[in-house]
Amino acid sequence: QYVKNITKKRHAELPKQAAVLGAGIMGGGISYQSALKGIPVVMKDINQKSLELGMNEALSLLQKRQEKGRMSAVDMAKTLASIQPTLNYASVSDADVVVEAVVENPKVKATVLAETEALLTDHAVLASNTSTIPISLLAKSLKRPENFCGMHFFNPVHRMPLVEIIKGEKTSEETINRIVSYASKMGKTPIIVNDCPGFFVNRVLFPYFAGFSLLLRDGADFLAVDKVMEKVFGWPMGPAYLLDVVGIDTANHAQAVMAQGFPDRMGTIERDAIALLYEQQRYGQKNNHGFYNYT
Ligand code: NAD
Repeated sequence: QYVKNITKKRHAELPKQAAVLGAGIMGGGISYQSALKGIPVVMKDINQKSLELGMNEALSLLQKRQEKGRMSAVDMAKTLASIQPTLNYASVSDADVVVEAVVENPKVKATVLAETEALLTDHAVLASNTSTIPISLLAKSLKRPENFCGMHFFNPVHRMPLVEIIKGEKTSEETINRIVSYASKMGKTPIIVNDCPGFFVNRVLFPYFAGFSLLLRDGADFLAVDKVMEKVFGWPMGPAYLLDVVGIDTANHAQAVMAQGFPDRMGTIERDAIALLYEQQRYGQKNNHGFYNYT
């Protein structure tokens, strides 16, 4: 059984203070969602501009709620104030739950996770929002792997209900229960999945992207593929547009992990469309150029 149904109740203590590492597309979204549901959050990045973008995104989502009459001005201000942007690592030390959402690079993540663990109390739990990197691999850099698991949100965080909770070889049941409780408090639908490259959803999604890349190699036009998937097949977006939303850089890193984990399922093309766009620094919507131009 690959995906476990959460039939038994998994109540555990909720975090009093959360921290999110990385204020990009995902870290910004996770911080917003945590604050919205009443769990204050320290949002840490190494880049001031990312922090500003993360805060601006939170402000714009909160303003929309207020305009629709779903939130008072006072609550909007309180929620925004409960996100504390910072460049300072030490600020995460009071958190009892930390979600790591930095770049999809195993070495960078391992360093960030180990440095963070050293700041936390023994009781704190640490989770990674990695899309594809096995949790048991990342856990090797940690002294308390039992307090660590995957917490994989989907983009855009405020709209997508699913959160994959990934149990590594050494993850304790208590850690899973606490992260399930946190995800539920955030208004999400957690599912518990076993550990492997890509977990559950990206084992489905990345072979689909690989199939799309092979179609392009065979001469298909990405605009035509997107049009068919959207207008005729009925999906909300086609693969090229979805890759731009995900981020070509993130997809390129994730694809490398998937190709290593499942070489037989990922096709054999070197320098496919994702790799070529990455080389050209066309990272998708985050820098206004990917398959499509957004300026
Ligand atoms: P992003 O490029 O938008 O943001 C990454 C952020 O991490 C940047 O702001 C960067 O400055 C920051 N960062 C880099 N090194 C750091 C460090 N040492 N400490 C603190 N911050 C650091 O990327 P993203 O799309 O938000 O992806 C982040 C993670 O979430 C990746 O692991 C990715 O695979 C995963 N993820 C992405 C998506 C998606 O659709 N984009 C969906 C699910 C999961």
